Amino acid sequence: MDFKSYINTLNTDVTYIKGVGEKRKVMLNRLSLYNVWDVVYNFPKDYEDRRTIHKICDVKEGEKCCIKAVAPSNPMQKRIRKNIVLYTLFLNDGTGTIIVKWFANPKYPIKIEAKEEYIFYGKIVRNFGRIELEMLAMEKSDNPKNVLQIVPIYHLTKGVTQNFVRDTVKNAFAKFDMFYDIFDDETRERYGICSLDFALRQMHSPTDFETLKKARSRLVFEELFVLQLSLLYIRKNREQKVSERLTDISYKDEFCKSLPFTLTNAQNSVLNEVLADLQTDKCANRLIQGDVGSGKTVIAAAAMYVCAKNGFQAALMAPTEILATQHFETLKKMFGNRVRICLLTSATKGKKKLYEEIENGEFDVIVGTHALLNDNVKIPKLILAVTDEQHRFGVNQRSLLSAKSKSCNVLVMSATPIPRTLALILYGDLDISIVNSMPKGRQKIDTFCVNESYRKRAYSFVEKEIEKGRQAYIVCPLIDESENLDVMSGEKMFAHLVKNVFPTRKIGLLHGKMKADEKDKIMQSFKNGELDILVSTTVIEVGVDVPNATIMLIENAERFGLSQLHQLRGRVGRGEHKSYCILFCNALDNEKTAERMKIMTKSSDGFEIAKKDLELRGFGEFFGTRQHGLPSLKVANLFTDLEILKQAQKLCYEVLSYDPNLKLPQNRLVFARIKALFDKFEGRDIFN
Ligand code: ADP
Ligand code: MG
Repeated sequence: MDFKSYINTLNTDVTYIKGVGEKRKVMLNRLSLYNVWDVVYNFPKDYEDRRTIHKICDVKEGEKCCIKAVAPSNPMQKRIRKNIVLYTLFLNDGTGTIIVKWFANPKYPIKIEAKEEYIFYGKIVRNFGRIELEMLAMEKSDNPKNVLQIVPIYHLTKGVTQNFVRDTVKNAFAKFDMFYDIFDDETRERYGICSLDFALRQMHSPTDFETLKKARSRLVFEELFVLQLSLLYIRKNREQKVSERLTDISYKDEFCKSLPFTLTNAQNSVLNEVLADLQTDKCANRLIQGDVGSGKTVIAAAAMYVCAKNGFQAALMAPTEILATQHFETLKKMFGNRVRICLLTSATKGKKKLYEEIENGEFDVIVGTHALLNDNVKIPKLILAVTDEQHRFGVNQRSLLSAKSKSCNVLVMSATPIPRTLALILYGDLDISIVNSMPKGRQKIDTFCVNESYRKRAYSFVEKEIEKGRQAYIVCPLIDESENLDVMSGEKMFAHLVKNVFPTRKIGLLHGKMKADEKDKIMQSFKNGELDILVSTTVIEVGVDVPNATIMLIENAERFGLSQLHQLRGRVGRGEHKSYCILFCNALDNEKTAERMKIMTKSSDGFEIAKKDLELRGFGEFFGTRQHGLPSLKVANLFTDLEILKQAQKLCYEVLSYDPNLKLPQNRLVFARIKALFDKFEGRDIFN
């Protein structure tokens, strides 16, 4: 088959497959199988090992196995219900006798020819003391298709049987003498992967489990390669030119000199990457990753400062009112009166006038929430749009902000550090910079995981710290009223603490249902030191900065993800004082929970914690229901296949280095795959 007809065949409707007419097409469509390609790539969800034949005298109760014997006669029949008949057969293979049973509709009886040799596959059970075989498959021994091999088990839907899917797959394969490989022999050898043809055939009909594993790895490699390459390719092709760029970046030094600290090397090099972006005519999309407290804000601040001094505007968007306000204040302090800065949130009064001033260029730096996205906000000289992603903004929202001018670059500050390889997939449309070290002099936050019996001691410890002038956070998990659990809500905890535990202390409560300005007021008074303790649900997870707070006490810590706990812990240890994190956990007898808590007490490295979190909770839960805008993966598992992902990424860069536009003949198949993926997911976030 030449290449063109090969591609055409793959793209042909399922009715092209032998045995599939309009009726069966509908059934296959119900399984999301539309064309030949879908059928070929419809991998089994499981396999059943039907390779071994047992002698009847050796069978054991509970096992599934094959038995080989000559059928003595037609089976006995007993009507159970309308359309259901129990068939029974006595088998003797020379070593013993066994009863074989199965149920079937008498309208479609299984034909058995007496005196012929059959293979019976089924489960051995004991019934009234007798050993019986519950038959699952039977075939003549001269032409076995569903026995004496590893048999694929496919996903089914109403009206579709295993045998139908198996036959359809077989008939689809019969159309091809060979599957074209997207990797040449040399590449396959270097990366130690088998051919596509071999892998595909093995997936549906494996010779053994070892080989099946190799086949699977190959397909994982291919899937991750294609996905990653698509993202890199799309990113490259999205690159627009901007008409404005920074010309004088000497303002960077001016800004840095004015800071009360010196930038770490890590901050400095990330800042240089950002500024380099802004000096080219390429429109930059960059992600800054860094652990909690690694100082990402000041990098963005410096970049915005240089933009302002070059006569441009910059914007910073944060997901909550509290954070936006905090950024506004931090920046105001850093900029002094050298940069004109304003705050725009939904609570801002006199918006109309502010819109005008922003449009007229009376402000250099605009800080705000989603309110910035309003159509009436015009920022004509916007050259840099920064988003602080404490919760992820959609790609669309990011681009809404940057669309406010023709020359806007995008900078994203991520909250949760994730392994670089994963970031490349999840943020594949962005360049990535990592702030890989912490400012000097940060003290380790001592972390303890304790159970209920330590509560008194923990509280008296909090009391002592307050005595010294420090402040404390007490965080309760967000709970659903319908959950009937032994978990205290923020409100209840607050009432209890005020009344019974810290009657002489000033305590504030912060929870998600409060209005933005109420939250702000509470947060502000905690910041000003007017409150000793802040009881809160996870709303404080976002990057609030109160250097005088030294205790983070977390209730029901087992209900939080590790990365979330790490974020919370990052709220303390931000000043000169020694800080502590106390995790209350009453589920330590659960092995997994105990392991998770141990990681928290041992590690203070956000990247490592994120990796463990992924490992223990799996990819889905780690990223929660947050839409990450990626096509779903058929074979690969982003966590367990991380090593393969790394290899695939290596090959991506290799290919792009010699064929950046994927135009060379040897990459035509790769290109076809990317295009297919692209077409399928066009309109989804990531391909916008
Ligand atoms: P994050 O990366 O979590 O957003 P921030 O930007 O909020 O971290 O910075 C955390 C704290 O560290 C802030 O109080 C900031 O002023 C301070 N900081 C940032 N960079 C440095 C540095 N190089 N030396 C000392 N302190 C720094
Ligand atoms: Mg931050």
